Amino acid sequence: MSSLSSLPTQSLYNSLEDVRVPPSSPRATFTNWAGTYVCRPCAVFEPRTEDQCARIFELARREGKTVRAVGVGHSPSDLACTNEYMLRTTKLDKILEVGLLLDYTFQSSSALGPLSLHSLSSSSSPWSFVSVVPSPSDG
Ligand SMILES: Cc1cc2nc3c(=O)[nH]c(=O)nc-3n(C[C@H](O)[C@H](O)[C@H](O)COP(=O)(O)OP(=O)(O)OC[C@H]3O[C@@H](n4cnc5c(N)ncnc54)[C@H](O)[C@@H]3O)c2cc1C
Repeated sequence: MSSLSSLPTQSLYNSLEDVRVPPSSPRATFTNWAGTYVCRPCAVFEPRTEDQCARIFELARREGKTVRAVGVGHSPSDLACTNEYMLRTTKLDKILEVGLLLDYTFQSSSALGPLSLHSLSSSSSPWSFVSVVPSPSDG
């Protein structure tokens, strides 16, 4: 993180160009699933890696902006709405590791970030049979 803080702001902007949603894109506007809330953040980012997330937060810190994460927009409220920065988590939706016990009971998994239930239960996934339950260590 210390190397990020020494990066010139213009370099930060340049490195985030690929993950910033173009203002002309429909994804530059957020609408919740029910269509009851709409907002137009001043910038919308779709990072794919943790490093890109760190760069977005560093840019927000320098620009004095808050960052609102958004999942799939199913909340019936305006919780996800913001006029500042929006971080869409859809491209962080990656399963990194899945552990299976010998009896094929699901043991553990780790996801890069927010993992949608849709991805977890995708029929193309070998773990599509898995039910999501909190592990004992989750309290
Ligand atoms: C048809 C339908 C049926 C539903 N049925 C149920 C139900 O049976 N039971 C139930 O409990 N809910 C139900 N819901 C509500 C819905 O499941 C939740 O509101 C939704 O799952 C929240 O996840 P999301 O990704 O859509 O969040 P969003 O709507 O995208 O965001 C909601 C809030 O979470 C924050 N947030 C989202 N992702 C992150 C993240 N990665 N990091 C930090 N903050 C984040 C946002 O900033 C915002 O404040 C239903 C919704 C719909 C549309």
